[in-house]
Amino acid sequence: MSRFLKLALRALLLRCPVCGKGKLFSGIFRVPEKCPRCGAPYAREAGFFLGSIYINYGLTSLIAAVVYPILMFNKWVPEPHLTIVSLAFVVIFPLLFFRHARSLWIGFDQWYDPREGEV
Ligand SMILES: [Zn+2]
Repeated sequence: MSRFLKLALRALLLRCPVCGKGKLFSGIFRVPEKCPRCGAPYAREAGFFLGSIYINYGLTSLIAAVVYPILMFNKWVPEPHLTIVSLAFVVIFPLLFFRHARSLWIGFDQWYDPREGEV
């Protein structure tokens, strides 16, 4: 398995990008400072996870920009309902995707600028 796929799989499983065993979250939204298994620091600096917003916002916008016109032009969903469903989606989806956005961000960071001790 390539290193990129390994890191992507660890990110999707919400695991430490360095050892692949430690959990990335200790609560619903809380990321500990270090991996509980290998001790690798998760956040390199203050504001490190700001980059995960790009992933979360980008995916939310992409899905909304693709799905909304498809539903609208095919008239599969009535217009008033489509607006409500779309607004609900752009509020709820980022909350549900928050953990994976952070995990993908830290995985990307590990791929681009590896921490020491990657297994
Ligand atoms: Zn670890």
